[in-house]
Amino acid sequence: MHDSIVDGPGLRTVIFFAGCPHACPGCHNPESWSQANGRGYSVDELITIIDDYPMNNITFSGGEPMIQAKDILPLATSLKLSGKTIWCYTGYTYEWLVDYGSREQRDLLKLVDVLVDGPFIERLKDSTLLFRGSSNQRLLTLENGEIGKVNRYAFT
Ligand code: SF4
Repeated sequence: MHDSIVDGPGLRTVIFFAGCPHACPGCHNPESWSQANGRGYSVDELITIIDDYPMNNITFSGGEPMIQAKDILPLATSLKLSGKTIWCYTGYTYEWLVDYGSREQRDLLKLVDVLVDGPFIERLKDSTLLFRGSSNQRLLTLENGEIGKVNRYAFT
């Protein structure tokens, strides 16, 4: 989806990755839980689609992008080399990914500018929050995979 203004700042091209193990009650996108509801794209196909909107930055959403980290890494590497910023939504917490995630998931964190982490929790739903659905979810500015000293989005 191109030109989103609700999945991070500015105009963003959002890639929705099919498949999610979290099954959060109240999920806004339950059709994304099954990978069978998606279709496969090569990195080159995605780059071609992204290049149709050259001013847009990129958001990985889902579903759960982190379960496809190994396949996303070449795309994320290419996007960073072309100067794009990457936001990534995940139902895992940052700490879980660092402590228990795969090498590919930790490598993907190094390419992500902002991680929106944690599952959607219905009782913490807050429609006034920017870019996220429940107040447990955080907008974490990452620097080479580590939480940056300055969280540019702490005020949102
Ligand atoms: S992590 Fe996101 S896509 Fe997955 S079940 Fe929770 S709200 Fe839905």
